[in-house]
Order: sequence, then C-alpha cells, then structure tokens
Amino acid sequence: MKSYVNVCFLAILAFGDASPVYGGTDMKVRSAQMVNLLLDNAGNVNDTSVWDSLAEMTDLYGHRMTGHIQYDRSVSWVIGDAKRYPSFTAWEEPVTVNVWNRNTEYAQMNIPTRSPPTVDLPMLGLGQSIGTGPEGIEADVIPVETFEDLEALGNSTIAGNIVLFCADFVSYRDNAKYRFSGASMAEKYGAVAVLVQSITGYSLMTPHTGAMNPASIPGAAITIEDSKLIQRMYNRYNEAQKNPSIPNSEKFIKPRVKLVMNAESYENAKVSSNIIIDLKGSDKSDEIVLISGHFDSWDVGVGAMDDGGGAFSAYGALKMIANLPARPSRTIRVVMWNNEETLGRGMYAYTEAHKDEISKHIFAMESDVGNFNPWGMQVMGTDDAIAKLDALGKMFLTTVGGGNITKSDDPPDADIETLCNMGVTCGGFEPLDKYTQAIPLVPAGTEGYFRFHHTQADRMEVLDKNQLRANSVAMAVWAYILADQ
Ligand SMILES: [Zn+2]
Repeated sequence: MKSYVNVCFLAILAFGDASPVYGGTDMKVRSAQMVNLLLDNAGNVNDTSVWDSLAEMTDLYGHRMTGHIQYDRSVSWVIGDAKRYPSFTAWEEPVTVNVWNRNTEYAQMNIPTRSPPTVDLPMLGLGQSIGTGPEGIEADVIPVETFEDLEALGNSTIAGNIVLFCADFVSYRDNAKYRFSGASMAEKYGAVAVLVQSITGYSLMTPHTGAMNPASIPGAAITIEDSKLIQRMYNRYNEAQKNPSIPNSEKFIKPRVKLVMNAESYENAKVSSNIIIDLKGSDKSDEIVLISGHFDSWDVGVGAMDDGGGAFSAYGALKMIANLPARPSRTIRVVMWNNEETLGRGMYAYTEAHKDEISKHIFAMESDVGNFNPWGMQVMGTDDAIAKLDALGKMFLTTVGGGNITKSDDPPDADIETLCNMGVTCGGFEPLDKYTQAIPLVPAGTEGYFRFHHTQADRMEVLDKNQLRANSVAMAVWAYILADQ
C-alpha cells in the first residue's frame, strides 16, 4: 500500500499557525507527501540499517558506561558516522560525570549439606555502591519485603547482618525504591550490607544491576532464584528454632553470605559528552523538535535495548528525513544523552547550555522503555496540545503504530524531565510488550522489557530488525509533522 494519508483530509486539520506556501503546494500537503514516503519504508524488510548500525557500534566498542573509555569511543563512532551526512551538523557538548568502576565482585553462601558446600550466587554490585574491602563482608542474611518490615524488625534484629530486600516484581516504580534506597534505609538499623532481589518478573538466574543512592554500606543485586532460596532457608531455620522436632531440623541453618566487591567511585572525575545532531529546518531553523534516547548504558551487556535502541531509533529517523526530497520547516535535533543511568548530568548540562533557546523547543521526545512494536506516547502538555497530538497520531500512525497518546502528569522520560518542567510539550515513546503485545501500563515499562533491563543479556538479540525500523519510522513521522506544522 503506497498511500496512507488522505491529503485532502489532512489539509483540513488546523494545527499551529496558518500554513505558508511552498512553490504553490500547501505545507500540510507537503507534510503528508513526505510522511507517506516515510511510511513506505516501514514495511521495507531490506532496510535493516538502524539495527545494523547499532550492532556495528556495540560489536566494536561494547557497553557505554558513563565515564568509561568505551563511552568515548562510541561517541566518536557516532560523530564520525554523522559527518558522512552533509545535511547534518553533529557535535559533542561537555558533561562532567562521576566514574564508578565495578572491578571484581562475587557472593557466596555456605550450605554444608551440599558438596561442595560453597554455593556461588550470581550477583551484580549496584552502581554507585561502595566496595566491601578486599576481605569482603560475611554475615547472616535477614530477608524483608518492605521498608515497614525492616522498621518492625529494628536495630535488635538487623544490626550486624545483611538485609535482603526480597519484594516480588510489581512494577519498576514499585520495586526500584528498594534498589535505590535499600542501603540507606538498612544502614540506619546497623546492617552491614544489602542484597536486593533483581527487579524483574522473570529470571534465568540473571542478576540485574542499576543505581543505588549513596550509602555507607555496599549493595548488590542477586537473582530471584537465590532470593527465594535465602527466604526458604531463613523460614525453615526459624521454624526449627521454635519446634526442634520438625524432621531434618538439625540440618536447617541460617542463610549466611560472603559478599566481596572491589567497587571504586571517583567524583567529577571525567569530562564526557552529550551527542547532538541537527538537521536544519528550511525556514524556521531556530525552532527545534527534539527526539532522543540516552547513550550511556550499564557496564553489563552492551545496552542494545537500554537505550541503544531509543538513541538509534531517533538517529535513524533523522537519516530517513534527510533522505526525503523536502526538508521540514523547523530544525530536527537528535540528542543522545549522557549519564541517564545514575545522575542525569547529561540532561542538566543540556538545559544549562541551551537555556536561551528552551522557549524555541516545540516538542521534546525520548524513547527509553524498549523498541519493540511501536504503540504510542505518554505526553505531558496542555489539554489542547494533547488533543492535537492525538488527532495527528490517529491520522498518520495507525499503520505503523506509535500514534496512541496518553496524558501524563509527570515528565514521561528521565532525560526530558527538565524540558518538560520548563513548559516544553514532551513525549515518552512507548512500545507494546515484547512477548504479550499488551498495551503498556502506566508507569511506562512492560514486563518483557524488564527481563533484559540492566543485565548481561541486554545484547543486540533483544531487538528485532523490523520492529526497530518501525520505531524509527514512527519517530520520523512524529518529528516531521511537528517540525512542519
Ligand atoms: Zn534507559
């Protein structure tokens, strides 16, 4: 199917200022023609360029953790790639970041009835955690599901022990608080370290890292399976203490873990960068439609899904638009943000460096919850803007997806938070669930996404070539129509 949008219907839609005229062609008609060319490419299975370019970069340089050399090499790869497009202006902007090195780390538990008795617990230290010292920390483990449980047990039970936060997955927002604040809460009761059950609903013995807030005790994530093992051991031991006649009770021991982490942190140790790539608008080039993903990743896997897919969907969209016969009126800007995963320094650096042109930002979009089949956007903006976006989405994006608009009262993605709060209409791009095709729930993020999030498994194989192209097409359509209204 070649024609997706009825240009006569489109010309009726009133959005923005009165339409200027280009060589006798109404601007909205031009938009529709260009959008149809973009949509033609959605079904082009021979175009795997978005996936291929992300694969090349991640195969060559690996992960892109803030402050690490791989990040800088990957930035250079993107800037070099963008320089091959004469219509692009690509540059780096400085961002001062902390450096955190994981170094060697492990966790073990002793279960004397097994042979050998030492059981390795796959783990990942949490970003920004302190280390344990070379000797490590060995202590009994007390599982708690909530902060209320921790408080109820109090200093008398917790002091000198390791706390395991073992809440099952409800949503990222519900569970991530234990990863962020578990250590700083548990240290108040004298805990010597914390373990956190990985934030996912599905596990193949996979630990998931992520940031924690600074604390005086270390924190690490363990797998769901080992979290459950520790809970069962703890419960059996306590039952046996109350009732020694339980069969096998003499074999039930307290769960006790040895945690060794050689993590190191260095404050403000490196000047790194955001990546910015502009395609100048044809006549309102000072006005900006911003599309984005974050460039930094964790130091496990290669950050293909989080958030190479989002960053490269935006970048691929810009390439598709550059190949069209007509440029949109406004400038389209791709930003690949630095440091989303810990402190958002890339966002703050951008808003400071561009403070005089924030009012010229017409729209800001980020994609950071996976690039599976596109579904829509959560939008923070006025009711009027949301109604217009909803109409545009229904008009342009029913075939490829990505057009469903949901109103959000909060900034829908982390790196556009300051822009949203400064009054820029902003959208967080959302896919359908990777496995169930379920419509995303609020807050953003689908269960399939969290199988891979912050793990060694966040590799290119999470992303489907055709779905990634569809994301890029949907983002290109949004960018073009918003830049040409
Ligand atoms: Zn992310």
